[in-house]
Amino acid sequence: MRPARRRARREAAAMSAPQHRRTALERVEKFLSETYFTDCNLRGRLFGASCPAASVSCFQSRRRLPYAEAVGQQFRPARVGDAFGPTWETCWFKVELSIPQAWAGQEVHFVWESDGEGMVWRDAQPVQGLTREGEKTSYILTSSLKETEPHSLTLYVELACNGLFGAGKGSMIAPPDPDKRFTLSKAELAIFNRDVYELLVDLEILLDMAQLLGEENQRSFQALYAANQMVNLCDVTDPSTFPAARRLAAAIFSQKNGESQHTIHAMGHCHIDTAWLWPYEETIRKCARSWVTVVRLMECNPELTFVCSQAQQFEWVRCWYPGLYTQIQDYVAKGRFVPVGGTWVEMDGNLPSGESMVRQFLQGQRFFQQQFGRICSEFWLPDTFGYSAQLPQLMRGSGIRRFLTQKLCWNLVNTFPHHTFFWEGIDGSRVLAHFPPGDSYGMHGRVEEMLKTVKNNKDKGRVNHSAFLFGFGDGGGGPTQKMLDRMKRMSDTDGLPRVQISTPDRLFSALERESSQLCTWVGELFLELHNGTYTTQAQIKKGNRECERILHDVEVLSTLALARGGKFQYPASELQRLWRLLLLNQFHDVLPGSCIQLVVEDALRYYTEIRRAGALLQEEAVQSLCGELLQPKSESAESTLVLNTLPWDRTEVISRPGPTGAETLALVTAPSMGYSVAREPLLPPQPVSVMKQEDGSVAMENGVIAVCLDTMGRLTSLRLAHSERESVPDGCCANQFALFDDIPLYWDAWDVMDYHLETRKPVTTLLKPLEVTLAGGLRGSASFSLRIGERSTLTQEIILDAACPYIRFLTQVEWKEAHKFLKVEFPVQVRSTNATYEIQFGHLQRPTHWNTSWDWARFEVWAHKWLDLSEHGFGVALLNDSKYGASAHRNILSLSLLRAPKSPDAMADIAHHQFTYAVMPHRGSFQDAGVIQCAYNLNFPLHTVPASSAQCPAWSAFSVSSPAVVLEAVKQAEDRPEAVVVRLYEAHGSTVRTWLQTSLPVKEAMLCDFLERPDARSCLPLEQQGMRLSFTPFQVLSVLLVLRQ
Ligand SMILES: [Zn+2]
Repeated sequence: MRPARRRARREAAAMSAPQHRRTALERVEKFLSETYFTDCNLRGRLFGASCPAASVSCFQSRRRLPYAEAVGQQFRPARVGDAFGPTWETCWFKVELSIPQAWAGQEVHFVWESDGEGMVWRDAQPVQGLTREGEKTSYILTSSLKETEPHSLTLYVELACNGLFGAGKGSMIAPPDPDKRFTLSKAELAIFNRDVYELLVDLEILLDMAQLLGEENQRSFQALYAANQMVNLCDVTDPSTFPAARRLAAAIFSQKNGESQHTIHAMGHCHIDTAWLWPYEETIRKCARSWVTVVRLMECNPELTFVCSQAQQFEWVRCWYPGLYTQIQDYVAKGRFVPVGGTWVEMDGNLPSGESMVRQFLQGQRFFQQQFGRICSEFWLPDTFGYSAQLPQLMRGSGIRRFLTQKLCWNLVNTFPHHTFFWEGIDGSRVLAHFPPGDSYGMHGRVEEMLKTVKNNKDKGRVNHSAFLFGFGDGGGGPTQKMLDRMKRMSDTDGLPRVQISTPDRLFSALERESSQLCTWVGELFLELHNGTYTTQAQIKKGNRECERILHDVEVLSTLALARGGKFQYPASELQRLWRLLLLNQFHDVLPGSCIQLVVEDALRYYTEIRRAGALLQEEAVQSLCGELLQPKSESAESTLVLNTLPWDRTEVISRPGPTGAETLALVTAPSMGYSVAREPLLPPQPVSVMKQEDGSVAMENGVIAVCLDTMGRLTSLRLAHSERESVPDGCCANQFALFDDIPLYWDAWDVMDYHLETRKPVTTLLKPLEVTLAGGLRGSASFSLRIGERSTLTQEIILDAACPYIRFLTQVEWKEAHKFLKVEFPVQVRSTNATYEIQFGHLQRPTHWNTSWDWARFEVWAHKWLDLSEHGFGVALLNDSKYGASAHRNILSLSLLRAPKSPDAMADIAHHQFTYAVMPHRGSFQDAGVIQCAYNLNFPLHTVPASSAQCPAWSAFSVSSPAVVLEAVKQAEDRPEAVVVRLYEAHGSTVRTWLQTSLPVKEAMLCDFLERPDARSCLPLEQQGMRLSFTPFQVLSVLLVLRQ
């Protein structure tokens, strides 16, 4: 039969057939199936003729080599079907292709299939990422082969021996299988039938509409009958029958919506975890593979936009793939490749200090400004495990008023009530927050996702716009042509939301216009899941806290050295390098501890580097600041130089080398942000007394606090000296260790579940009973050892210093557990329905009861340096030097110490650990009692250096008159070597005015934002005492001080 007559018969038949919904649906399904009837259905016709590669050869390396080095190696023959490995190696393939002459006029693809992640190189440039998991197996060689085109060519494929999600053994988050092999399953040329593809996409959308709009919706039936008729019209062997079928689909797609329809703002996206189930180094290649693919898509799809965060990833591509980076810069300039986020990496939202978060924005925004000529206007943290209540103020101070995430849809207990709302932080700063209502950042442009975006939206009627981020994510991948082609068909189709390719700016501008009826959420965005990440990988947590301290101290001391004049060069570029390492490790799978062992090793190496380089910088700054006071190497030490990097005077016991070389103790005093020379040791107002009782218990007292310890090191009594007020409830013991079973439902390193609380076992196996180790005077101490579980032990030294208002617990743990959780508990005789926790630049309260589901879902929370439980006039604070997990239930304060998850790092936390915490009973409020200052003191020990016998008065660079205000950071201004930036915050939650006094030669002072952009209207008058500053509760102020040269 001639094609024209056959087509006519098909069209006639299509008019009259009766329809049964179920058989029609399944008939269309089978017509598209990849599994069934591919011998006669449409899907089976997607590719036409194929021909194998003329030759394939390979070279394998353990290192990730640059292209130029790799292609110069010796390649050996390889075949399709071969397997390569083991895990983390790289296999380079040289592929010779010869396109048959007979394919003239055809669209020709290079088809490459492997379970490893591939990058195609052509003419020494990366051109296309190929990953089966990311639905990318074709590199288009030509859309229509011409006679004049070269028919022979050579490509290289760089194959990483890992998948999009690493190489987990058996499950995604299982530790990587070190011996995994990756198979090359296809390497060939093939004709791609574009007309079949377009018809497949049409039918897929119609089928989805038919299935998902439901039987109550007439559009469902319209779509179904159109699809069924299209099947009738199509003769899969005769492409001339396709246009009529496509016209039927187009007729449905072009039936428009009403004016009130919801608008979906679709943006290409590719969430790339900066390290997670793969190491940092692999991420560099993931960025290149994903982004070069986006650039290819942009060339063919002029409407495509792509939203991209994390300055660090841009910086990697800039260094390692300069050609690709130039192309990206072009698309950024065109507004299509859109940098967002404003931070160095998508960091954890809970654990980094306030200053670290400021630096995330400072390093990020400055990078975007320098590279692309503009800062980001949206904060972008779609995948992070909770959001500090201080973030709105940090965003606002960094040029950002808009925030996007979606992670709170992972809440295990309560459904967050909004998708679009104002988020208000602890200081009252507000930003507009949007959660894409489809609850994902990795959409595929499907009908189902569009319908969910509208249906799930909690702010229906208030706003009519939603974000829709499409593209494979987490391990990279990004958007595909098919995702775009699906959405083109849905741009304005009755029954479906309106879908437009958009940008964050267009979305948020639309939301801002509609914001008059939005609700406001005040305080933290707490994720009711992943609360094990406050504790997992304790050495990473410790490295973070310690390196935050090191960089703080180096900056303070270097700035003082700079301001003192002389030849000192502020180490600006070295500090930037070290900050960037610290900020990198704050990525949301590294600092939380949810990464593989390889990443942990990298992270710990970076901390080691910060410690090493930080020590050198500190030594240089101290040498410059007070070189004439330092002791010449040959002399014996007579005096000690004491440096204090905190903004208040301190009197503390230090340990210093004595005349015989042995360490001796001394009580010294040092002024606020300055130094003094200690010659004659001070006498304590009252020496520490240590008394061992007949029953083995020990009593210690220093005139400030008094404590009784039982033989297991537990506190049976804790009092303020000269007071009868007892902190430990009758019959209870504080400093009680407890071990819990810790088996979550799935996310091992991430989650501790509520039911772990039902498995509590107090640790009571004594290895070595309490004995006195220092008899008192300037310091008293006692130590003991416990067995924890089968294989682990704990040794603790309990230390009380003269004049110190807290007692310290220096703890060593040999930890060899599996799925156990170690905490230490302090039951206290204090009644309050709320406990207070330190957060970035402030604190907040959380309930101590479990009244509602919102209360008990916070059974495990995070804090920084302290938490406190107070009633009127009295309270007890728990301080720490490297812990973040905590809880306060009823009257028990708990600090979370160690976990032992097995995925994705089977060796997580199996190590020796050392950490310190402290307990501090106090009169009055924690603010008035100085808990905040004591927690700083515990974390920022005084620095001591042997000094010469030269005379020298104490010197202070800065002091603040109000105890409510903390001077947190002191640094050289970016790009202004003659200026200094100081950052202060109100820490009590009060409105105050204060003096900032300085002995530095300041000639001009003005407020600036976190990006150090001065506010010209806010020049601060300089007076004798310095300058006056006004604060509202938890306000953070940055002041730019221009120095006299
Ligand atoms: Zn992530």
